[in-house]
Amino acid sequence: MNIVPISAFTDNYIWCLHLNDRRAIVVDPGDPEVVEAYLAANNIELAGILVTHHHFDHTGGIEALTNASSVAVIGPENSPFSGLTQTVRHGSELMFESLDIKVLAVPGHTLDHVAYYIPQLEALFCGDTLFSGGCGRVFEGTFAQMRKSLASLRELPVTTSVYCAHEYTAANLKFALAVDPDNSDLQARVAQVSRLRQLDKPTLPTTLGEERRSNPFLRWDAPAIIGSAQRKEPVQDADDVFRVIRQWKDSF
Ligand code: ZN
Ligand code: FE
Repeated sequence: MNIVPISAFTDNYIWCLHLNDRRAIVVDPGDPEVVEAYLAANNIELAGILVTHHHFDHTGGIEALTNASSVAVIGPENSPFSGLTQTVRHGSELMFESLDIKVLAVPGHTLDHVAYYIPQLEALFCGDTLFSGGCGRVFEGTFAQMRKSLASLRELPVTTSVYCAHEYTAANLKFALAVDPDNSDLQARVAQVSRLRQLDKPTLPTTLGEERRSNPFLRWDAPAIIGSAQRKEPVQDADDVFRVIRQWKDSF
């Protein structure tokens, strides 16, 4: 199975999942033109759209992509976005041709945010919840909610490929190094990412194993991260550690 990033705006990726030679699903098509161009160039028909959350850079292309055909638009039941044709919630399972797609509710960045996990591909589409080296800003939910959402993603197999919606990795890693300077896995990831960006290549997908080793926002229980949070302000528990480093990143 082929999963290809379509670049949009300055740093979004619209992931295109090929079901076969002729049909594909796209995730979070914020920009219709880049998707239409990709489909036309590869002679592919749009079979469906998965929506992780309502932000315009993830939904802005849906109307244009669907007004000529009846494409399934699947997204969270509590979405403020009005263009869905099928809604899902935590624990929903979708069958898309031969694909079995599991839905996880991951509120925090927004309250409607969901992630899509495809066990047979070991693929996770997590929108703006988990990034490589970072995580989404907490806009609508609480820090505790966001940490719990990340904790549920962290439970997936370490071999899971993680398809994030933005190319934020290099900037995230700058911050990660400030929080976790002695982490040799992080240092290795920084070197790898800088090589990829020099070649103008995506740093995604990443893997859950990589993120568990190097992403401070999945490491609220690691002594080095707890220590760095503690030097900012007194922390009592995992939610505090997460909140302190997330707020630190917001002003970094
Ligand atoms: Zn967003
Ligand atoms: Fe976004």
